Amino acid sequence: MAYKISDDCIACGACAEACPVNAISEGDCKYEINPDECIECGACAEACPVSAPAAE
Ligand code: SF4
Ligand code: SF4
Repeated sequence: MAYKISDDCIACGACAEACPVNAISEGDCKYEINPDECIECGACAEACPVSAPAAE
């Protein structure tokens, strides 16, 4: 399953920079992961200061 960003996201953008396949983009209130592009590497979870991205 792809990673998903929770409502804890503070929209800092660190995950988008860390993602090797550019699967993360800025959404309305938080960043969002395109599940069709995510390769489940976990880099976004490591880069996030509030641990918002998690594997579903
Ligand atoms: Fe990108 Fe990896 Fe996070 Fe998926 S798990 S969104 S591929 S950084
Ligand atoms: Fe949101 Fe975490 Fe990504 Fe920052 S690194 S935009 S807080 S999910």
